[in-house]
Amino acid sequence: MISKQIVLRVLLLSIAVVVLACNRDNDEGQVKAQTQPAAPAAAPPVPELSLPPDSGLPPTIDSARAMQYVKEMVAFGPRPVGSANHKKVEDFITSHLRGDTVEDDVFTADTPEGKFPVRNVVAKFSGIKDGIIVIASHYDTNYPLRNTSYIGANDGASSSALLLELANQLRGKKRDGYSIWLVWDDAEEAMKPDTELPFEKDSLYGIRHLAEKWQADGTLKKIKAFLLADMIGDADLNIDRDQNSTPWLEEVVYQAASRLGYQSHFFGRDNQVTDDHIPFMQRGVPCADLIDFDYGYNNVFWHTPQDTVDKLSPKSLEIVGGTILETVRILDKMEPLPPK
Ligand SMILES: [Zn+2]
Repeated sequence: MISKQIVLRVLLLSIAVVVLACNRDNDEGQVKAQTQPAAPAAAPPVPELSLPPDSGLPPTIDSARAMQYVKEMVAFGPRPVGSANHKKVEDFITSHLRGDTVEDDVFTADTPEGKFPVRNVVAKFSGIKDGIIVIASHYDTNYPLRNTSYIGANDGASSSALLLELANQLRGKKRDGYSIWLVWDDAEEAMKPDTELPFEKDSLYGIRHLAEKWQADGTLKKIKAFLLADMIGDADLNIDRDQNSTPWLEEVVYQAASRLGYQSHFFGRDNQVTDDHIPFMQRGVPCADLIDFDYGYNNVFWHTPQDTVDKLSPKSLEIVGGTILETVRILDKMEPLPPK
């Protein structure tokens, strides 16, 4: 899923139209939206980057296994924070990380709907270079939709399942690059529709807590890049170029996709997304949000009971998973990494 208050979508095909899609969907999952004319947005400048040469065999994942994880996660049903299903999904994730180095970040979030237990799970895979690359996905489903059949196959499960498969790929291998920390973050979704709170105050609970914690303990300074995956399972995969992300890191992602022949699935559209990367962007960490916020015609499947596994494709998981791993491989060899 993604929780966002405002999405500025720029349609680049002709005269730009800005669509303001409000996150405050009601219990039926209807998204309020309005359109207004706007000046065409300038395309973000493409940074000049000195990339290391292509380094041989492309990284791969087991996309069938990743899709099986998606199916198993959604089989638990809706998984909003504080629910029994949520606990089952926590256990599902951690059961696949047995033997790995795992850090739990557990706290109580004070929300407009009351206090809720929140749990971020971090699996750490050590490298020999000084620095950390974080790859994150939220795993909760939308709290206001807790009484519906909304299961968030794309919105939350697809990316969280992909991270489990990335763990499989990283496990037991000596890394000659940066350490990789996989983060399954919690309570990304807004808790209350039509709250008077600013959006950023009623969403992103888990990742905000983690960013604050890592800032306080000095971890944040070691993070070289923050890669976020959200809504990446759509069979019709078109990853947005997010203008709230770091331009040079977005460019590295695009170059990584191009090296794998996946460039047609990336950046055909510009977007401006409020998502889990924002607290890290605000603290000066280079971020890239990999998200396809066009899920069905006019995003009709987003936050609805129609967000089901049949809309997804293992090929999309393979495209995004491979691109993330190739991005990491490029970052490992870029010396020095650009400043933010
Ligand atoms: Zn969502």
